[in-house]
Amino acid sequence: MLRDLLDALRCPMPHEESWLVAMVYEAEGPLLRRADLSCPVCAAEYIIRDGIARFAEPLAGRDDRAPDPMRLAALLGVTDGHLPVLLSGRYTLAGDALGALIPVPQVWVNAQAVARPGAPGLSEMLVRDRVPLGVATLAAAAVDATHATPAMLASVIRAVQQGGHVIAPAETPLPDGLKELARDGEEWVAEVTARASGLIELRRRAPDAVG
Ligand SMILES: [Zn+2]
Repeated sequence: MLRDLLDALRCPMPHEESWLVAMVYEAEGPLLRRADLSCPVCAAEYIIRDGIARFAEPLAGRDDRAPDPMRLAALLGVTDGHLPVLLSGRYTLAGDALGALIPVPQVWVNAQAVARPGAPGLSEMLVRDRVPLGVATLAAAAVDATHATPAMLASVIRAVQQGGHVIAPAETPLPDGLKELARDGEEWVAEVTARASGLIELRRRAPDAVG
């Protein structure tokens, strides 16, 4: 995981948003190879080993259909910038090729691809049912069938910036907080709406005020 992503990490436990405190044991340039992450609110501890941040053991299941990188780049709708795009599961199989098309950092969640050693701009993490990222820390996200659960999508929608795109399998119901832009037999692509961000802010300030 890249050191740059530390600021975007939040404890995935259900409590008020909290940054994680990092104790770094081994780094290679911008890449944290071995570190411990701890939450000052609930004292949960997570580890970075071999460069991969391990928040939880992923659920079983994989889909080996390789995505088309050109199509993925078009659907993500990102051309440059410093915010990363999130690729989960099978979408990581197109990660290398995507990096050649759009020069933005990537966050791989439960990757099915093996990262090239020293791949620039790449952070990898293992998670179970949500991504441990703060509000508006991602430019866009591609969520594959293995990861398109309501809880995971809700955490992804929180993390994608307003107007950023979320891609999910066509059979996944469109969650709140997104406006559909296009769909075909394989996927839909939708953008995070202003309303969603507003609700998130309200929830953060007054947890009981919004249903
Ligand atoms: Zn915590």
